[in-house]
Amino acid sequence: MENARVQVTIPDPALVLLVGPSGAGKSTFAERHFRPTEIVSSDAARAMLSDDPADQDASAEAFQVLALIVNGRLRRRLTTVVDATNLRAANRMRYQRLARRYGVPAIAIAFDLPLDAYRTRNGRRDGRVVADRVVEDQAARMPRALAELQNEAYAAVIVLRDPGDEQMALVRRRGHISNP
Ligand code: GDP
Ligand code: MG
Repeated sequence: MENARVQVTIPDPALVLLVGPSGAGKSTFAERHFRPTEIVSSDAARAMLSDDPADQDASAEAFQVLALIVNGRLRRRLTTVVDATNLRAANRMRYQRLARRYGVPAIAIAFDLPLDAYRTRNGRRDGRVVADRVVEDQAARMPRALAELQNEAYAAVIVLRDPGDEQMALVRRRGHISNP
């Protein structure tokens, strides 16, 4: 309950990269805090390409689709949330480059939870449930991703750790930023 009063201010527009394994709560967080049109999701792109949000063969094209949409939205200075695991620096850099091109600040929001929380929540997802082994591999990449985020020149890096952090108030202000 305490966390419900935590208020984080992010600029508008911003590029918001959600970072965390499957089951971290990224899509839930995005839906709670952003409009549907502001969210671009790798699962949704895979589903559009192949009818199957889990189809890894569609991943390369899905990421091209995401980059195209992110580019178009940032060019229009519209807040854009990338709902994907974003665990690889190369993927994050691709979006960051677009943000820099259009002078839009980039924010990272990382979901640093215990492995059991990712696993349990992954099992409860409405769309697709990812194999436990995949969630474990993704979780194993989190410490490195968290360290890398500190060196990637974001306007702010927000790390959610406690269950309930997701309930925080996210406030958008034009041209204003404060780090929690
Ligand atoms: P994603 O794979 O990172 O996009 O995770 P989702 O947003 O799909 O969430 C996975 C599951 O965890 C869903 O069943 C959510 O309802 C649940 N979930 C998401 N956020 C929270 C949270 O803050 N607390 C709890 N207990 N469950 C959550
Ligand atoms: Mg999701």
